[in-house]
Amino acid sequence: MEKIAALRCVECGKAFREDEAMYTCPSCGTRPDGGWGILDVEYDYERQARLFHKDHLQRAERNIWRYLPILPLADNAKLPSLQIGWTPIMEFPELARRWGIANLYLKDDGRLPTGSFKDRASAVGTAKAVELGFDTICCASTGNAASSLAGFSANLGLRSYIFVPAHAPEGKVAQLRIFKSNVLLVEGTYDEAYYLCQEAAEAFGWYNRNCAINPYLIEGKKTAGLEAAEQMAGKIPDWVSVAVGDGCTIAGIWKGFVEMKRFGIIDKLPRLLGVQAEGAQPIFEAFHAGDETVRPRRPETLADSIAVGQPRNQTKALRAIRESGGAMVAVSDEEILSAMYELAQKTGVFGEPAGVTGIAGLLRAITDETVKSTETVLHIVSGNGLKDVRSAQRACPDARRINVSLDDVRAIVAADGPRPA
Ligand SMILES: [Zn+2]
Repeated sequence: MEKIAALRCVECGKAFREDEAMYTCPSCGTRPDGGWGILDVEYDYERQARLFHKDHLQRAERNIWRYLPILPLADNAKLPSLQIGWTPIMEFPELARRWGIANLYLKDDGRLPTGSFKDRASAVGTAKAVELGFDTICCASTGNAASSLAGFSANLGLRSYIFVPAHAPEGKVAQLRIFKSNVLLVEGTYDEAYYLCQEAAEAFGWYNRNCAINPYLIEGKKTAGLEAAEQMAGKIPDWVSVAVGDGCTIAGIWKGFVEMKRFGIIDKLPRLLGVQAEGAQPIFEAFHAGDETVRPRRPETLADSIAVGQPRNQTKALRAIRESGGAMVAVSDEEILSAMYELAQKTGVFGEPAGVTGIAGLLRAITDETVKSTETVLHIVSGNGLKDVRSAQRACPDARRINVSLDDVRAIVAADGPRPA
């Protein structure tokens, strides 16, 4: 494909042609000591600048395919017919004032077709599988990537095999089943499910959609950065807060912003605030140790979408956060649940635990003055709260049960007192 200049290894820096490397760097391979040979797609930007400019964007449809000139798919690729992308960015100045910052913006990716940010990656991944001639695609996922892959496979008529940790939230597993994916609930962690999926892909010749190793998936994720940059051109926020599990999402969002600056659509870049759950914080630790080495461990957090003990995109993530002049914080599960309730009740946006982890991290960063009172922040809500109803129920008080009696209502209204100002 002419628009792709190279697939470049983030570890050894070697460049490969598309037909030389399917997933990871053939020289580095994947080593459990932290060198994963992750590849980055480099475009012929000079060539693509003839196709990708302000006029093109003015004419293009409001979905992720407006970015096709800088996505790793053929110009005539068979694309999913689901509506993907151009999710709204909403502004909450009053809540920002209450929290002590200049402004707060939310981009709600919980509105994507299967309810999560992962739809951006699955859209590109499934289209790539079709382009490469595969009829079966697989992935290992903590939940959202799986439900998303299942939905997009249904849309494009691909067969899918999905490896999910057996403890994945019910809402997500229900999605897999309704889309008639071949669901395999693995009695193990995400990391164990991941290796099993990789072995199966090799054994049966399936296309492996795992974002961690598939270089094209992050290109789908980058559309969130491309979109946010375009939607906020002229008022680029000082910070973008993003929950971090594997590291692929934050790196993708950063790549999107950087490309929009390269093409002259924006003239300023935000700083990244990476947020991990305390029970799964290897990238946070590497950031503060000042290197790119992660120490894997068994993840323990209710934010299942970022419960990754052995990240594979730490190099891309750490470089993105450092390049942006950003920061990393880690938050407890209690802070995540509290952010979930606080955000929903003050904005009407209901995010799943990982989808609001960036908000918990933002509150922490405001307290320790990493984010200043004069600064603006964009948070990308990466998943819909209905995907994990159990966590939502833990986040808020029980509903009150009454008899069919106005007196019961009266007693409650009296106990509640006047509406707070
Ligand atoms: Zn390499």
